[in-house]
Amino acid sequence: MSDFSEEFRMPKGCPNCGNHMMKVSQAKSPDDHVYCTSCNTEVCAWEEAERIMAETPRSESEQLIEDVMNNKKSSEDDDR
Ligand SMILES: [Zn+2]
Repeated sequence: MSDFSEEFRMPKGCPNCGNHMMKVSQAKSPDDHVYCTSCNTEVCAWEEAERIMAETPRSESEQLIEDVMNNKKSSEDDDR
């Protein structure tokens, strides 16, 4: 298979399994689909992923990374 794809970390997790690692084709066309690396769910289009990443402050995405690394042992972080 010559299916080249790149993995990246997205601030918004997979709606199915909550994983933040996504993959997208190396072409990264705006309408290319972004898939969860864990369960292969189609999460959104690359265009939307770029927008989500652009709108997310770096500090917040780092916090999300920490959440992932802590394996979500406390999900009581409800900021609403
Ligand atoms: Zn998933």
